[in-house]
Amino acid sequence: MEKKKRLEELKRKVEDCRDCPLGRSRKYPVFGEGDAESKVIFIGEAPGYYEDQIGMPFVGRAGRLLDNLLAEIGLSRKSVYIANVLKCRPPGNRDPLPEEIDACKPYLMEQLKIIQPLIICTLGRFALVSIYDKSASITALHGKLIQMEKFNIFPLYHPAAALHQPMLLDSIKEDFAKLKEQLAKPIPEIKVDLRINKTPEKEVGQKQMKLF
Ligand code: URA
Repeated sequence: MEKKKRLEELKRKVEDCRDCPLGRSRKYPVFGEGDAESKVIFIGEAPGYYEDQIGMPFVGRAGRLLDNLLAEIGLSRKSVYIANVLKCRPPGNRDPLPEEIDACKPYLMEQLKIIQPLIICTLGRFALVSIYDKSASITALHGKLIQMEKFNIFPLYHPAAALHQPMLLDSIKEDFAKLKEQLAKPIPEIKVDLRINKTPEKEVGQKQMKLF
């Protein structure tokens, strides 16, 4: 089945999901949107107030900054795919709870399996630790391509953090410029075969890491 159809089927499952209490408190689930054939996916943390109101990712202030950052490197939200770790808004925009991340992660993993992006751009710490490693430091890893055996990760600061800390704004702009350079180079085609269990995954040329 083509990617778009498979994503639509998965979206319907997310709409019916009540696997954690957020499924009852949210207005709309925010599944994700963009080009299912894109080689790049951006993963944020969770929907905020505005996203919850209309069911689309990154439509508030952070979203406008993300649109500008994408435009600066010749991309648009239509030419990439954008999703979140959590599909439903945590009340008051509080941090996602570990049990909410565990409940929602199978949907993100399925999205990644369907889309098979060459680069997974994590936006902020929650997305980075959810996809990569629980102890990963965004300060140490932002703007650097991490090549795993089965996928590539490019950690970025969250646009909302850059709105609050002007110093991070310069940094996130530099990282997007690096992403542009990275996208112009041949990137290893790695089959995205993410597992949600605790299977150890080997990082290319580096130490053995625990994933999921
Ligand atoms: N922040 C996120 O992480 N995701 C959104 O969709 C909006 C704001």
